[in-house]
Amino acid sequence: MSRPIRALIDASALAHNLRTLKLQNPDKLCMAVVKADAYGHRLNWVLPGLEGADALAILELNKATELRRSGWKKPIVLLEGCFNAEEFRIALEHRLDWVIHNRAQLDQVINLPPQSLAIYKPRVFLKLNTGMNRLGFTPAQAPTAIVDLEQWRLAHACPVPVLMTHFANADLPDGQDNGLSPQLQHQSLMALKPESWMSSLGNSAAALNWPALAGDVFRPGIAVYGASPGPRSASDYGLQAVMSLHTEVIALQHVQAGERVGYGSRWLAPQASTIAVIACGYADGYPRHAPDGTPVMIQGQLGRLAGRVSMDMMTVDVTGLSQVTVGSPVELWGKSLPVDEVAGHAGTISYELLCAVAPRVPFRKS
Ligand SMILES: *Cc1c(COP(=O)(O)O)cnc(C)c1O
Repeated sequence: MSRPIRALIDASALAHNLRTLKLQNPDKLCMAVVKADAYGHRLNWVLPGLEGADALAILELNKATELRRSGWKKPIVLLEGCFNAEEFRIALEHRLDWVIHNRAQLDQVINLPPQSLAIYKPRVFLKLNTGMNRLGFTPAQAPTAIVDLEQWRLAHACPVPVLMTHFANADLPDGQDNGLSPQLQHQSLMALKPESWMSSLGNSAAALNWPALAGDVFRPGIAVYGASPGPRSASDYGLQAVMSLHTEVIALQHVQAGERVGYGSRWLAPQASTIAVIACGYADGYPRHAPDGTPVMIQGQLGRLAGRVSMDMMTVDVTGLSQVTVGSPVELWGKSLPVDEVAGHAGTISYELLCAVAPRVPFRKS
């Protein structure tokens, strides 16, 4: 028998999430974000569910070329663009589009050898800094950049560019945005956008909470995988979990009141208790900082983490649960236990947990 941990991937749930997002954003192009190996889900496992997407967005050039080799024919956009001349060459060869976020990148595009554009005419996304202050042209720099890019793309008959920005606060309840509202960012972009250009603003949070502000091309990531960007729950948004992280109970311990469990003897048994030892630890990607009480689904019932997560194992209080034995099935997160809930207990967000599933965890179709 092999170690029982595995990540089950449900590509049909992913297809459902795409349909849900598209229903709320009709008449827009849906560019599903598959960076970080599809938010930890592994590109090859989710690809069959992505057919409904109009385009894919990714950061890693090697993964983008892999997508082409896997047969993805629709557009692929490099979210941080190209970093040198060799990358531009590879991008054109693989028919990739890209984002530019500063003058140096724009100059590199303008100075591409014209014969290289005979291979492929890319669509360029120009990123605007509308107040998040991470990447992009400032509103002061943008008008010149827009004129220069427009001139270049007309000269080379490249497709209509896209003016793009990223929301800082589309995931928050109204009024908690520290003054940078999605409406304000949307206004800044629309004030600069040439009429003929397209717009791209919405991440998952905007696609679900502010569809009117999401632009012509929206870019959902986390919601595609069935987790919530906030503020509501994934099931409230009609999303279905794509990844379920499963394992099994590998030992049981019966402890007396006053005994302690695990490293640092953090957990104190308040009564005679049954502890299930399960095959998953921080080396599998489970957060070591998860506190006692973090939910774990065992044999279809809710157990609570009891003691510090170790490298290969976790200990769960299953006192009073029925029929828990060695070999009982465990779900760390997934269809019956939302990853958002586990992340909330661990003081992080679903994104971090999903992306952290370790290379040693085998993936399977669910
Ligand atoms: C990651 C990313 C997204 C997706 O964000 P989610 O919150 O996962 O929907 C959208 N746009 C850009 C530029 C990104 O980098």
